[in-house]
Amino acid sequence: MTSFLSKTNHRAAHPEALAVYCSDGRFTRAVEELLAHLGHEALDTLTLPGGPALLASTTSYSERESMSRAASFLVVGHAIRHVVLIAHANCGYYRERYPGESPAAIEARQLADLASARQALELAHPSLHVRTQYLRVTGKQVQFDEQ
Ligand SMILES: [Zn+2]
Repeated sequence: MTSFLSKTNHRAAHPEALAVYCSDGRFTRAVEELLAHLGHEALDTLTLPGGPALLASTTSYSERESMSRAASFLVVGHAIRHVVLIAHANCGYYRERYPGESPAAIEARQLADLASARQALELAHPSLHVRTQYLRVTGKQVQFDEQ
């Protein structure tokens, strides 16, 4: 048996922030950086393909139900106070769902879905602070635009 010991110390307290974003691993570090920039050194994460799309009213009932149950579990169980919903440009989830739609049309859908997801979370948890961000790659960097 081989063991691996992390350099990172275990944090006893749960983070107060939750990031909901796409599984796309190319953005993991950038999302952590954004959260740190927003004042959250540690974060819970909820990642599935499409991310916040799965909390939006345009998603099927079953998808929305399981995602919102997972979000509520973290909000209540881990005493989450801040949620950051992040959609990203060129998301495969949207490209598969809406084949043939232009990038601009898909972006408009994503922004509407972000607003819808935010509304659903705020309705379920009125004291939660919810922010929405749109991520795009500019050159070699990842840019987040608050919505
Ligand atoms: Zn994606």
